[in-house]
Amino acid sequence: MANKRKKPVKLICKTCGKVFEVLPWRANKAKFCSKLCKNEDVRLKMLEYHKKNTSRRIAKVCRNEFCKKNFEVKPEMIEQKFCCHKCYTYSKTKEYKERLVERDKKNNLRSKNKIWGI
Ligand SMILES: [Zn+2]
Ligand SMILES: [Zn+2]
Repeated sequence: MANKRKKPVKLICKTCGKVFEVLPWRANKAKFCSKLCKNEDVRLKMLEYHKKNTSRRIAKVCRNEFCKKNFEVKPEMIEQKFCCHKCYTYSKTKEYKERLVERDKKNNLRSKNKIWGI
């Protein structure tokens, strides 16, 4: 039955899921129904690779002294100092500066008290 061995093998395309036929000697290598689907697979892999590379994040700490939240930014946003726009605008307010001064005063007092053992 030499004839039977030449019967095409049915495979499922990795890209579109369509059933396609290849000659038995190609069955191990064939993964796609067409060149188009093979190209699509390459494109998707590239996309995946790109996504992985660009999803790399840089760990940061919010510059808002009353937030100090850990957050992550994209490499191109490395200059970002605040976790959110709210923190950014808050850091520009008078209230924020006053709170900072107030806090520093308390801190100073505390360290002074330590020195004097009060
Ligand atoms: Zn296909
Ligand atoms: Zn924040």
